[in-house]
Amino acid sequence: MAFESLTDKLQNVFKNLRSKGRLTEEDVKAALKEVKMALLEADVNFKVVKQFVKAVEERAVGVDVMNGLNPGQMVIKIVNEEMVALMGSETTEIQMQPGKSITVIMMCGLQGAGKTTTTAKIAGKLKLKGKKPLLVACDIYRPAAIKQLQINGEKQEVDVFSMGEHHDPVDIAKASMEHAGKNGHNVVILDTAGRLHIDEDMMTELQNIKANVEVHQTLLVVDAMTGQDAVNVAKEFDEKISIDGVVLSKMDGDTRGGAALSVKAVTGKPILYVGMGEKLSDLEQFYPDRMASRILGMGDVLTLIDKVQSNLDIDEDKEKEMAARMKKGKFDFNDYLESMKQMKKMGGLSSILGMMPGMGKQLGDVESMVDEKQLSRMEAIVLSMTPTERENPKLLNLSRKSRIARGAGVDIAVVNRFVKQFEQSQKMMKQLPGMMGGKKGRGMFG
Ligand code: GDP
Repeated sequence: MAFESLTDKLQNVFKNLRSKGRLTEEDVKAALKEVKMALLEADVNFKVVKQFVKAVEERAVGVDVMNGLNPGQMVIKIVNEEMVALMGSETTEIQMQPGKSITVIMMCGLQGAGKTTTTAKIAGKLKLKGKKPLLVACDIYRPAAIKQLQINGEKQEVDVFSMGEHHDPVDIAKASMEHAGKNGHNVVILDTAGRLHIDEDMMTELQNIKANVEVHQTLLVVDAMTGQDAVNVAKEFDEKISIDGVVLSKMDGDTRGGAALSVKAVTGKPILYVGMGEKLSDLEQFYPDRMASRILGMGDVLTLIDKVQSNLDIDEDKEKEMAARMKKGKFDFNDYLESMKQMKKMGGLSSILGMMPGMGKQLGDVESMVDEKQLSRMEAIVLSMTPTERENPKLLNLSRKSRIARGAGVDIAVVNRFVKQFEQSQKMMKQLPGMMGGKKGRGMFG
């Protein structure tokens, strides 16, 4: 998981700080020395680390104790605030160009960074906001790129404009504007060519596109796994073609965190989105405060809530109904199936648990305890029940259970155990009426 080692180290530093009643200047300095090491090991730019530690130190030495916080907690609070500031404080969104009927976004990046995938992901996000995007295949050097964009566009149900590989990217970009105008598109997203390394030809081509088409926003996709290289790439692109923002792809991987923490400080340009997987829905808005919270091991409950809320199939009425049924102990196997479906859509159990405060570290243990394969087995059991059985678990006698076991390909003992557990949780839900059912219909967390 991303940031794991950085989070672990920072949490150790904080644990030591918290255990002290009073903090001397030496205590703070010693702790910050460890913070510095942890950040450098996470591949954060060394100048950024130096400035960061200095800023924290200036505020933390001789800190007054605030209501309810001990000095150790105060230092953690300062580290958190400085980390948020480092990543840009504010959330930056793609803006529609005021006064223009078509907003033009140019996507750029090195080959393999995730540019084409991100282009389609962004189109999906804009579409959800009611826009009508047009994707434009300007990468004529990698024939597979055009096909890839077309396939992704189709999946997102977004139009793709291509003139094949025998036209100049500038001409393609110009022609796409005309096409967009005629077909009522209000956002044009240019997928430009990448190279394995930064080279003059690539930069010149991007400059030429910008000189001939009015580009309103230039977004650079960089691979978070490449750490400082990603930051250097961003700096160079910005110097050559002036970028407006960055998308950090592959944040679902084992990145140490350096890129997320340094991009804004080094380039002055904000991170807009982070890529969290290969699926076209795996793109998250970047929130500096939530990211800091995740890095510091304080969890990211807000993103989790967003995921739950943006889960398109969640129907508030249905959810309220489910909560009411739970209170009455009427939660049946159909509800069970529904909640499994929602969980899967949110990226599975481990992804959800990873966003809970303090869970990042323990995730390994939890994952081994709640094996996702076992969950699929449970699902197979429920799917082998008849609709009446799902609605009324009491019907499940021995012969029905053995039929279900055969259907799910498991031993009858497994079915027995599962049904028993299910009945127990039903009882528990009855006893905990206050737990579920949002006051304001805010779903699971209401
Ligand atoms: P391009 O050459 O920059 O256009 O890169 P592509 O869009 O073709 O992506 C390169 C590879 O990275 C593909 O296998 C993508 O599926 C993968 N990829 C892109 N974004 C992400 C991400 O956020 N997470 C993960 N795990 N893979 C990604």
